Amino acid sequence: MSEKMSVYLDNSATTRQYDQVTDAMAGAMRYAYGNPSSLHSLGVEAEKMVRTARKSLAASLGCSEEEVIFTSCGTEADNTVIMGTASSRKRAGKKIITTAVEHPAVLEPARRLESMGYQVEYIGVDKNCRLDMDHLKAAISEDTILISVMGVNNEAGTIMPLSEIARIKDGYNKAHGTQIWLHSDAVQAMGKISINVKKTWQGVDMISVSGHKIHGPKGMGALYVRKGLNLEPFMIGGGQEKHMRSGTENTPGIVGFGAACDLAMSGFDERVRKMSEARKYLLDGIKAEIKDVLINSPEEAGSEAGLCCPSVLNVSFLGTRGEVILHTLEQDGIYVSTGSACSSNKKGRSHVLAAMGLKDKEIEDAIRFSFSEFNTQAEMEYTLEKVKQAVARFRKLGSFR
Ligand code: PLP
Repeated sequence: MSEKMSVYLDNSATTRQYDQVTDAMAGAMRYAYGNPSSLHSLGVEAEKMVRTARKSLAASLGCSEEEVIFTSCGTEADNTVIMGTASSRKRAGKKIITTAVEHPAVLEPARRLESMGYQVEYIGVDKNCRLDMDHLKAAISEDTILISVMGVNNEAGTIMPLSEIARIKDGYNKAHGTQIWLHSDAVQAMGKISINVKKTWQGVDMISVSGHKIHGPKGMGALYVRKGLNLEPFMIGGGQEKHMRSGTENTPGIVGFGAACDLAMSGFDERVRKMSEARKYLLDGIKAEIKDVLINSPEEAGSEAGLCCPSVLNVSFLGTRGEVILHTLEQDGIYVSTGSACSSNKKGRSHVLAAMGLKDKEIEDAIRFSFSEFNTQAEMEYTLEKVKQAVARFRKLGSFR
């Protein structure tokens, strides 16, 4: 137990790339260096690789290949939806509905639109980050053009009720002759819950995903846009991706994303089971062995709305400071996060935990553990021991209770 381990528990920030992904990307870099738009055989070869990866994305989303647009990251996919919808639907209305707990990749473009005269309504959440559905229903009106709700919250791990929201949106559109579009930022959901538009997420019109959250490459994203939706492109230029996203394709990145998708989908249940087990071990241990904690995530993990995604556990260790605990654990080889590490607001107070009603001090005390299939029980035993020691040491110094 005393031997130092290396335990990576920051998988919501980013994941370790699968070796098979790295190999596939290296092959693409070495040999498929042609421009997919070129007419010669090297270009054709690269174009084939892009097509294969597009098939993989389409299979995991349950859509057709022509509905998949590759982007440079999840942020670009989100920006494309928010800015593109506003621009293509400006005559239909000026209202957008989103949540108070979205990632800045959605919140910031939404704020930009507010400054341009759009009305944005932010739906609140409860103490476990569950969406206020009454508020959402009441917010929908005839001038609404877009509803954007994330699939899984990146800080609390709460699964949002996308299929229910899709039903409400479709019902409203039918009754009022409107064409409200529904988007989901599924960057944290992919690989952990089903986001298949034919099965679980019927009626969701646009979905953003990102490669580096599923053991794929960083700097790679994709956007599903339902066929027939007239979304205005965000990046314009050479007309790649059927004019939806100009710019020479990142062939190695696309190949890597496709390979990561294939791996995530094969043995999906087994991968999720491993994450869930690691999470449960740590959660049970924290509850049994550490006093004065707040479990900010829904305790039960699963795949249904309102439960927690199996990869996330957010806990406030009262009377400590998350940042100090983070660095103490780092010295023991354990990597965690205090909030969402991929937001620029690294030092700021978490807007998600604030929206969940946590007091400032409880937010400051919060740690996010985020799991992957690579985490083992031995790692969790080690982590629990080190968390216990770090919390006890801090509380002793701070004379907590
Ligand atoms: N949306 C959510 C929910 C995220 O968690 C993140 C990154 O953490 C993003 C969007 C941004 O994705 P990317 O890093 O690919 O731009």
